[in-house]
Amino acid sequence: MISKIEHIGIAVQDLKKSTELFTLLLGKTPYKKEIVESEGVETVFFELGETKIELLGSIKTDSPIAKFLEKKGEGIHHIAFATDNITNEIKRLQENQFQLIQNNPKEGADNKIISFLHPKSTNSVLVELCMDKSE
Ligand code: ZN
Repeated sequence: MISKIEHIGIAVQDLKKSTELFTLLLGKTPYKKEIVESEGVETVFFELGETKIELLGSIKTDSPIAKFLEKKGEGIHHIAFATDNITNEIKRLQENQFQLIQNNPKEGADNKIISFLHPKSTNSVLVELCMDKSE
């Protein structure tokens, strides 16, 4: 089951500058900064009630975020939905003709197991499913 919007991912050119901007905008400091080496991305998380804002900066020129920034510029990159059972949710979505970017869930930032749906099958919105590692 999808329970809520876990976070909204925003692609930024300069993570340091954007962290300062969002600290001012939200009136609070981020609770986490984390590099996900396998994705070539550095992330900064702000907690906002039930949901979060994830800033995404590229650490490699050929990372998916670098390609996104090159193509579309800064802005909303993905919406992440929380689920308590990512395997069942992937199965349900595949049965309903949604396309996944990778077939197997992988480790994401912030202690999550994640999977992305291809924007081709979701009205051009990149959708992330995420589940707490402990679940
Ligand atoms: Zn995310």
